Amino acid sequence: LLEKNRVAGVEFTDVLRGESHRARAPMTINVAGPWVDEVLRDLAPSMRRMIGGTKGSHIVVDRFDGAPRAALYVEARADRRPFFIIPWNRKLLIGTTDLPYEGNLDAVQASTEEIDYLIRETNHVIPAARLTRDSILFTYSGVRPLPFIAEERDARGITRRHFIHDHAPEVEGLLSIIGGKLTTYRELAEQIVDALFRKLGRKRLRPLTAHAPLPGANVEDFKTFAASFVADSGLVETTARRLLRIYGTRASSVLKLAAEHASLKESFDAESGAIGAEVLLSFRDEMAETLSDCLMRRTMVGFERGLGLAASEAAARVAMRHLGWDEQRAAREIAAHQDYVERLRCGGHD
Ligand SMILES: Cc1cc2nc3c(=O)[nH]c(=O)nc-3n(C[C@H](O)[C@H](O)[C@H](O)COP(=O)(O)OP(=O)(O)OC[C@H]3O[C@@H](n4cnc5c(N)ncnc54)[C@H](O)[C@@H]3O)c2cc1C
Repeated sequence: LLEKNRVAGVEFTDVLRGESHRARAPMTINVAGPWVDEVLRDLAPSMRRMIGGTKGSHIVVDRFDGAPRAALYVEARADRRPFFIIPWNRKLLIGTTDLPYEGNLDAVQASTEEIDYLIRETNHVIPAARLTRDSILFTYSGVRPLPFIAEERDARGITRRHFIHDHAPEVEGLLSIIGGKLTTYRELAEQIVDALFRKLGRKRLRPLTAHAPLPGANVEDFKTFAASFVADSGLVETTARRLLRIYGTRASSVLKLAAEHASLKESFDAESGAIGAEVLLSFRDEMAETLSDCLMRRTMVGFERGLGLAASEAAARVAMRHLGWDEQRAAREIAAHQDYVERLRCGGHD
């Protein structure tokens, strides 16, 4: 919402419900990551470019003989770039690449060249791996929201630091975040809140989360917590250990939900062993809105070999029984999940 040269809020569409809304605010922050420029383009087509995103792809393979037990840092032979071979989710995560990206941000996929590069370099450092394209369970890619630097041709030369850009005096009431990493998200959030309060002429707040444990980590001695959870939960040991691995101390919240109905302790996915109560947790406590949110970004079921495709029907049945979904919603969500995971299938798309 632009009023003269001031951003007075946003107009947005709730894409799940197809409704448009307006929200007015004294300051607006553009946190669209690699899409920052797209948001600004709607505001003022002539705004200078801020993001020069680079694409990074990973491959996921089964553990092989001689696979590292801890994360391995490797320098690629071809271009001296660092990449990692990391034990992850009982598999191996290998990546990443780092290539300038100008394509469609909504359709990013690993290319054949990236896949072959990661296979070649892994086989070079661990010859017993003998990886081929057939070894790949799935791939995934994203675009890093790095600052645009006109003269930089080598992605390695682009800084990984983040910046808070104030669009004043051209446009008042708007800050954009350029860059930012997952690992430094809290520090960045603190800096943004400080910048916001400075702009509003308010006194700085004491950050409440600086020393707060992350969700699932609020215990002094996790080993002791885990041992008593396994002993007392009444769940089979593999299920109890899965809950501890995925949710930390929040495994207790899953157990509480499982008490609502005997069927909620049953697994809805043979591969991961995930139980029905996890579906409830993701929608009731973790703000999941879609089945893909639940399978990919909450329960991790979608990061198993089957990408959660076989599990999606059973998970939707749990939602029908306990969350009030009707047949149409279940069918829609299952189809949407199938569409979503297409991008993870290996095949190499350029
Ligand atoms: C391959 C790869 C590897 C990485 N490795 C690491 C690592 O090892 N360590 C690390 O710390 N970081 C890593 N990162 C960086 C990290 O993932 C990103 O920096 C981080 O996700 C940025 O968070 P963000 O919230 O700023 O942006 P995003 O996570 O991209 O979120 C932006 C959000 O804005 C939404 N959006 C866009 N346009 C609109 C619009 N018009 N209206 C409403 N919403 C919109 C998008 O849907 C998206 O949800 C990696 C990134 C990639 C791609």
